[in-house]
Amino acid sequence: MSKPVLVIGAGPVGLTMAAELVRYGMPVRIVDKLPTRTTQSRALAIWSRTLELLEVAGGADAFVAAGLHAKAVSLHAGRRTLARIPFGTVASPFNYLLMIPQSETERLLEEHLRTLGGTVERGTELTDFVDRDDGVSCTLSHAGGRTETLEAAWLIGCDGAHSFVRGRLGLPFEGDTLRTGFVIADVRVAGLAIPPDEPAIFWHPDGAVMFFPISRDRYRIIADLGSVAVHMPDLGEMQGIVERRGPGGIRLSDPVWLSDFGVNERKVHDYRRGHVFLAGDAAHIHSPAGGQGMNMGMQDAFNLAWKLALVAQQAARPSLLDSYSSERSGVARHILAESGRMTRMVLLRPHLAQRVRNLVVKQVFRIPAIRHAVASRLSGILIGYPDSPLNGGTSRGLRGPGPGQRLCLERCFRSDDTPRFVLAATDSAEARGMIARHSSLLMPGMCPPPDEHGIWLVRPDGYVAVVAKRGNWTEIEAALNGMAAEASSSR
Ligand SMILES: Cc1cc2nc3c(=O)[nH]c(=O)nc-3n(C[C@H](O)[C@H](O)[C@H](O)COP(=O)(O)OP(=O)(O)OC[C@H]3O[C@@H](n4cnc5c(N)ncnc54)[C@H](O)[C@@H]3O)c2cc1C
Repeated sequence: MSKPVLVIGAGPVGLTMAAELVRYGMPVRIVDKLPTRTTQSRALAIWSRTLELLEVAGGADAFVAAGLHAKAVSLHAGRRTLARIPFGTVASPFNYLLMIPQSETERLLEEHLRTLGGTVERGTELTDFVDRDDGVSCTLSHAGGRTETLEAAWLIGCDGAHSFVRGRLGLPFEGDTLRTGFVIADVRVAGLAIPPDEPAIFWHPDGAVMFFPISRDRYRIIADLGSVAVHMPDLGEMQGIVERRGPGGIRLSDPVWLSDFGVNERKVHDYRRGHVFLAGDAAHIHSPAGGQGMNMGMQDAFNLAWKLALVAQQAARPSLLDSYSSERSGVARHILAESGRMTRMVLLRPHLAQRVRNLVVKQVFRIPAIRHAVASRLSGILIGYPDSPLNGGTSRGLRGPGPGQRLCLERCFRSDDTPRFVLAATDSAEARGMIARHSSLLMPGMCPPPDEHGIWLVRPDGYVAVVAKRGNWTEIEAALNGMAAEASSSR
């Protein structure tokens, strides 16, 4: 394939997308209309599942070294602790929440992209495009006024909440705008009696105030404004909110960022039209409660990149690309609903309802299984694709994940940077025959199965596609034949 993939936007999602495509040997151009990288620290949280995927991509170490490792998150009402949810029980090699400013995330992702051989073209804006039978004709406006027409194989809009690509496609951004606004401050904090690497949320009859550690004694503070109109806060106002709603005795100083934001809960129905795809905030936005937005966007990129690479290499049929929208739209629907519930819990106003909420939370979070379930859900390791068109077979009667669920096989994938499925099965002549027949889709080696009585066909992004009982190779063969490009299919 000689035409490049054009990625619009060098935020965390565009950078992840470009790095994955370059890693898979695809010609890529990534452009951003801004002349320099943002210094805003917006997203702070990187969850376990995103780190697992970064690990496979070869980029996790720098993040792990640069961020704070939060071992738990806690919920309080004044000086009373309602709940503490530890992350240590999360079944992932990354069983903590990584706190790292988005500006730093973008710097590390750009560095990762550069190491792989890719470069961001800044001061370059997508101003028009036309989707044709064999690709997309794109108009790029460079700083200085030069205009360029680029013929791209695919166009990927990672251009944020106000996406030009989404608007040009005429895709409705369906959903609501919440009536409450929030204020935000990145400040130095003294006197907070909480472990220094632990996010803490304080509920108060007036609203919530939340502390997210950024570095030693620096925190991101977010508070909802209730019925007060959204406005830019100053340090004095933030100090007043913290005194009223927090545990007392806290002093704020040295603000580096003060801002306000409203909350939208919106998504597109289809993430793809023809040769054009949407990913990240261009496709979905929601409340920062739960810290999932950027994580979800980066995982969009991990989902799409391997599919584009296999189709471009003519190893898989173009219909493989259809699974992107259905899989990722399903995840966004779910996360939007969940973060919406969390936000409404934070915004709950009648005092009686708040008292009931606090009581229920205190009782429910005493149960270790609940704490574990909530931590696992937040960490992203339970995200899956139960309704994926790529799924087949069943894990009934076997120990191990079912179709659409994650199977942690990072070590198997890291050795090879071409996207390939992997067989998790015990060694046999049939397994080796399968690998030989489908060498353009399957990795040459196998992984140990979670249960020796079964066979798992695992996708390049670590999700199970097909599960079959040992010896039932027809199920696996059918799935691979269904996916393989016509010429390479063994049928
Ligand atoms: C206060 C706040 C706190 C948050 N906290 C969290 C958190 O803890 N965890 C989390 O996961 N998420 C969080 N989020 C959400 C997170 O910031 C976003 O989900 C994330 O930035 C989305 O990344 P993106 O790459 O899709 O878009 P963006 O970061 O918006 O990047 C889009 C890029 O596209 C470029 N662009 C736009 N149009 C064009 C064009 N026509 N041509 C060329 N370039 C273009 C822009 O210049 C921009 O650089 C938070 C958000 C806010 C506001």
